[in-house]
Amino acid sequence: MPGHEDASWMLRCEELARQAAAAGNTPVGALIVLEGLLLAEAAEQVPNGERRFAHAELLAVEAALRVAGLRYLESATLYSTAEPCILCGFAIRETRIGRVVVGRPSGDTGSLSSRFPILVADDVSRWGPAPEVVWWPQGRGGTASQA
Ligand SMILES: [Zn+2]
Repeated sequence: MPGHEDASWMLRCEELARQAAAAGNTPVGALIVLEGLLLAEAAEQVPNGERRFAHAELLAVEAALRVAGLRYLESATLYSTAEPCILCGFAIRETRIGRVVVGRPSGDTGSLSSRFPILVADDVSRWGPAPEVVWWPQGRGGTASQA
């Protein structure tokens, strides 16, 4: 279920996406919230950053783990202006983030709407149950044609 705080966190993500674009990077912003508090946020650093895979979601996950000092983030929500790609979907599942709010679809490398929907895979035992997924704005999404 969409929460009343989702809109404001997604606004912040959009701001981060604009920062990414201003630096010549893919316009994606992501952040992670735990118990109503911002744990970490990131703007995409690809293609102009030093790291080849510095996707906003991956950077946010890594920073959130550091800040929280945890190995798993079951109670956390990850917000992103984009559908996490397969790489970022893997990071989300490995850290067992419990809820994911996503913006625009990411086409054939998306972890939800592509033919590799690992973000919601329910047959990888160590990942546990799939996270709750909310497309934002509410009710949108699911297919690459809407990108
Ligand atoms: Zn990614």
